[in-house]
Amino acid sequence: MSEKTFPLSALELQTLTEKYETPFYLYDEKAIRENIRRFTKAFSIFPGFKEHFAVKACPNPYILKILRSEGCGADCSSLPELILAENAGIAGEDVMFTSNETPAKEYIYANLKGNIINLDDITHIPFLEKTLGFLPEILSFRYNPGPLKEGNAIIGKPEEAKYGLTEEQIFEAYKICKEKGVKRFGLHTMVASNELNPDYFVETATLLFNLAAKVKEKVGITFEFVNLGGGLGIPYRPGDKAVDYDYIARGIKDAYDAIVVPAGLDPLKIYWECGRPITGPYGWLVTRAIHEKHIYRDYIGVDASMADLMRPGMYGAYHEVTVSGKENAPKNKVYDVVGSLCENCDKFAVQRQLPEIQIGDLLIIHDAGAHGRAMGFNYNAKLRCGELLLRQDGSVVEIRRRETIDDYFATLDFKGLSSFNV
Ligand SMILES: *Cc1c(COP(=O)(O)O)cnc(C)c1O
Repeated sequence: MSEKTFPLSALELQTLTEKYETPFYLYDEKAIRENIRRFTKAFSIFPGFKEHFAVKACPNPYILKILRSEGCGADCSSLPELILAENAGIAGEDVMFTSNETPAKEYIYANLKGNIINLDDITHIPFLEKTLGFLPEILSFRYNPGPLKEGNAIIGKPEEAKYGLTEEQIFEAYKICKEKGVKRFGLHTMVASNELNPDYFVETATLLFNLAAKVKEKVGITFEFVNLGGGLGIPYRPGDKAVDYDYIARGIKDAYDAIVVPAGLDPLKIYWECGRPITGPYGWLVTRAIHEKHIYRDYIGVDASMADLMRPGMYGAYHEVTVSGKENAPKNKVYDVVGSLCENCDKFAVQRQLPEIQIGDLLIIHDAGAHGRAMGFNYNAKLRCGELLLRQDGSVVEIRRRETIDDYFATLDFKGLSSFNV
């Protein structure tokens, strides 16, 4: 018996696959809403709290519109992400533009739309000033604590990470901005990814609060918000424990009372820009077993590939796999569950204990609702799958169709070939 759940019965899923060919992603609106409400409730002890959903985790405007209706803003890092958020009705300062190595035209767009620009380096101050002809009224900077903070497996050690400004540069950056007439300030960091230790986030907040207090003292500015970034993990593996939002909120509140209030920085708004915990556990990749082979190992070949879900191949990430209708069957087989890329890392599960799988069985790959479809790619000319949404009334709508061969060829001009002489 798996501790992971899926919102449709075997019969309901079978019926769904008669209308929508596998593979596809399915998201659960009700579960997404219930989770974001718990998240928001926990952090609402901070007045002005806002979660800016990291669009990159699930860049679908339908999902963004649901999250907006629950009070979320958006965290974007490219022009198309800004446009996605805008189309979902997320506007102005509800959008944080936390980008890096940003082209000038993207800053122009973000500024035009009144989004909050979060700069990744001290040299981006003159770059932005030259690009816009002025500096915006509000600016934020991303802090990289370097050796002050331990990293984790996905994001690595902060001192080896390309992001953010050093502490010394932080002071200098706010000083320059103050002199140049910037009026409103934020401070940001993002130092972990998929971290399950709740204390890590309390420490991160403490670090930022202390830094904000120091900047206030040294530079003589005040802060409107601190943005704690993303990085809250989800329990991918059996036995992993979900982070307790209330525990983190209480820990951060203690740090707030101990640091922010005495520093005269209260009221200071607390922002998050989480992606993974917001949609991750509430999206699944559904794929069908289409081949089995028995060589030195036993393989189940499925109709999805790493092009649909890259995490296992790229990071060796664990995703729970269940077989629809066989949730309670004994796991008496050991398989590698593999996709069709000509890359041997294209494996959704390696030497995994699973029930006996027959060709035609529907496999459910869990916790795929963030950094799943979003990380899809077209290697081997694979066409990425579509996305379905289970509405609260039990109906299912297609929120992104699967790619077609025409989509793949859309950037090629076959007509030009006839006059291309070789
Ligand atoms: C990826 C990212 C996030 C979201 O991270 P999750 O792990 O999905 O919560 C937030 N902010 C920045 C700057 C990021 O790069």
